[in-house]
Amino acid sequence: MVLPPRLARRLRSTRTWIALGVLAPLGMLVVSGLMLLDLRRDAWDKAEQTSRNLLQVLERDIARNLGIIDLSLQAVIDHLKAPGVAEVTPQMRQLILFDRAATARDLGVMLVLDENGDSLVDAAGWPPRRLNNADRDYFQAHRADPGLGLLISRPLVSRLTGARIVVLSRRINKPDGSFGGVVLGSLNLAFFSRLFDQIGLGRDVAIDLYAQDGTRLVRYPADASDIGATIAGTPAFDRLARERGGTFLGPAAHDGVERLSTFTRVGEWPLVLNVALSTREIEAGWRGKALVISLIVLVLCGLTILLSLLYGRDLRRRAALQAELARLSRTDALTGLPNRRRFEQVSDRLWTIARQTGRPLALLVVDADHFKRCNDRYGHAVGDEVLQGLARCLSACVHRPDDLVARVGGEEFVVLLPETEAEGAMRIAAKVHEAVAALGCPSAGIVPGAVTVSIGLAVGPAAGEAGWGDLYRRADAALYAAKEAGRNCTRPAADTGLAMLRLTGT
Ligand code: GH3
Ligand code: MG
Ligand code: MG
Repeated sequence: MVLPPRLARRLRSTRTWIALGVLAPLGMLVVSGLMLLDLRRDAWDKAEQTSRNLLQVLERDIARNLGIIDLSLQAVIDHLKAPGVAEVTPQMRQLILFDRAATARDLGVMLVLDENGDSLVDAAGWPPRRLNNADRDYFQAHRADPGLGLLISRPLVSRLTGARIVVLSRRINKPDGSFGGVVLGSLNLAFFSRLFDQIGLGRDVAIDLYAQDGTRLVRYPADASDIGATIAGTPAFDRLARERGGTFLGPAAHDGVERLSTFTRVGEWPLVLNVALSTREIEAGWRGKALVISLIVLVLCGLTILLSLLYGRDLRRRAALQAELARLSRTDALTGLPNRRRFEQVSDRLWTIARQTGRPLALLVVDADHFKRCNDRYGHAVGDEVLQGLARCLSACVHRPDDLVARVGGEEFVVLLPETEAEGAMRIAAKVHEAVAALGCPSAGIVPGAVTVSIGLAVGPAAGEAGWGDLYRRADAALYAAKEAGRNCTRPAADTGLAMLRLTGT
């Protein structure tokens, strides 16, 4: 596949790879975060599903048991109306009225009370245990209102067994429709506790059974002080009372702990069953996983970013080192000027341009006169200083950006002048002589005028010349001629038609 050049360049760039090395882990972080959120959503979905299943199982069980008791109560009422039952002996009547269901476990007592509240028939046997319940709320309610149907009482303590119970009761009418008493069946609250205990729920699961008026009938985990309390008036109960079933998140009425509540009406009974799972419990598993995954991802991403940045820093250092090495390979250590290698590269390029454009390229070859003597007289170190001074002089004489001053040999320099005619180059040569005439080294006793240079000048490209080497040879030949002519002068190559230049006064 061929990539567009711009993209290919970008891909080759170190910066792109470092940026990718930093951005990719950040992308991983985002993806991991989204995955964790998804896992959290799953945990909540699972909790909702578990609550619903639990609620369904409990609701069915409770509704079935209440249904059985109510059927027994209705059977008693029906049997009481059956012809002949009033005439049989009390023992016989007891057997007729109560079937075996009335002795089921958790069914506390099953009684028929007469219109005064006295026990008339007892499912437990004959004679009935003596008791008067005329003061109970349910008895008074039935006596006052014939149309109540089944009543479920608030939690009570049984006068016969001492157990905590709820009482299911129905009114008995006399043949003329007047109040004839109440048939009641009590259900031990222990039934609910056992039911909830069997399921083996976690610590943070709470189950509540409420009467329609907000009275708490049962609570799991068991807490006797909560029984009989009312949550009527709380926002949570408003919701439970308003809807048949549903789910909501909010602080629990009794302890303020935030819970996910799932609730339903129990069959057609005036009861509401609520299963609540604490947010902490729901997210416990997820939190553990999220912590481990987050730590691993963070460490990996951090390491990747760190390594990318270190790699980037290393690459930048190498690039800087390479650039420095490249610069050094083009630079003369003593003078800081471009060296011969650089001169050759630039000459080659400028020669080609001059050839293409037909514009002149001038070259001055500058050589210090009798430099060996200078070294011998003042020492090599002073010679070096003089060479550095010469480099400064030459550099000060050129100003165009493409002009090049280089040190090409021991005490030999070049000045390469693109787009410069012979006359212009001669002017530069004159400036060089002037500048060198002013050069001195007071510490070594070298006075201005003691150092001189000879210059060979040539301009190309000339007809028949193949490369910059030809131009250099002509300039070098002119330099040789300048030396021959007594030094401290500039000799132009023969083809320039210019006369030799010698600084007046030297
Ligand atoms: P001429 O006028 O004919 O050019 O005479 P010259 O003595 O300058 O020429 P020659 O080629 O005989 O000697 C060049 C001297 O330059 C020899 C050497 O001692 C000196 N030289 C070359 N490179 C360096 C350098 O890097 N530092 C110093 N101090 N001297 C150098
Ligand atoms: Mg020399
Ligand atoms: Mg020389």
